[in-house]
Amino acid sequence: ASKEKGKNQYTLCSPAMKEEVLQKTQLTNSLYRALERNEFVLHYQPQVSVSTQEIVGLEALIRWNNPELGMISPATFIPLAEQTGLIIPIGQWVLETACRQIKEWQVMGLPPIRMAVNLSLVQFQERNLLSLVGGILNETGLEAKYLELEITESAAADGEDDIVHVLHELKELGVSLSIDDFGSGYSSLSRLKTLPVDRIKIDMQFVRGISTGNKDEAIAKTIIQLAKNLELQVIAEGVETASQVEFFNTYKCDEIQGYYFYKPMPASEVEGIF
Ligand code: C2E
Ligand code: MG
Ligand code: MG
Ligand code: MG
Repeated sequence: ASKEKGKNQYTLCSPAMKEEVLQKTQLTNSLYRALERNEFVLHYQPQVSVSTQEIVGLEALIRWNNPELGMISPATFIPLAEQTGLIIPIGQWVLETACRQIKEWQVMGLPPIRMAVNLSLVQFQERNLLSLVGGILNETGLEAKYLELEITESAAADGEDDIVHVLHELKELGVSLSIDDFGSGYSSLSRLKTLPVDRIKIDMQFVRGISTGNKDEAIAKTIIQLAKNLELQVIAEGVETASQVEFFNTYKCDEIQGYYFYKPMPASEVEGIF
């Protein structure tokens, strides 16, 4: 269409739009080289049991440190990686690195805890996810029960029935599954019923807004109750304050993840907190 309209088309593209396209192109080009240049690193954020206050899991969160562009948030580059298909090799690197790391910590004598890894819908649509996960568990010697895979509510809701099938196969492998950002998407309860998940993660937006008697509080309570009724574990994300901790303690949420206890940290720091 732009050819038909001729040169005038270009005047419709403002300098700001050109700048944006240019930036996105640069980012994409850099992203293509990031893996081979070793620019990714994983940080780990502890998940704490509400009843024992002990660390029961770690979530692996990817960081991209590019020499020219600086630190780039996963919220920026993960969507780009999904669009370009780069999420496949990047996601594989994340899985391998996280599994190798948690196994290494177990061998060092750290308590045996779970490692949670975020997966994108694109990875679930890839045919060999099951064999990839199985292969990595074999290679690293990590017992399947220590690996947890997180899928966002919107991906779980969007996905065709194929996704449900893959989730069942992954469960059979022995890994656990959790639904990330629960409450932010639009999954129906009948959908939730068909998913073989172990845990739901209450989306941060509700945690953020919790104060006595308001709607976020009502929603958070309802999600905890839903989890209990479905015999699922439930964890609250983005917990930053003592009063939020108290809330989740009172309403018997199983676990908490958030800056109140720990921020995501590099591997070298994790060893020091046990
Ligand atoms: P997520 O999986 O929901 O991860 C939680 C995000 O909340 C992380 O942001 C974490 O640093 C942040 N967070 C945790 N506690 C608090 C808190 O108390 N306050 C606040 N303000 N934030 C908190 P991060 O690391 O920037 O990651 C953003 C998102 O990027 C993740 O959301 C996840 O969807 C995606 N992501 C990160 N790593 C990966 C990965 O390896 N693969 C894929 N596919 N996605 C990833
Ligand atoms: Mg997550
Ligand atoms: Mg989340
Ligand atoms: Mg998220």
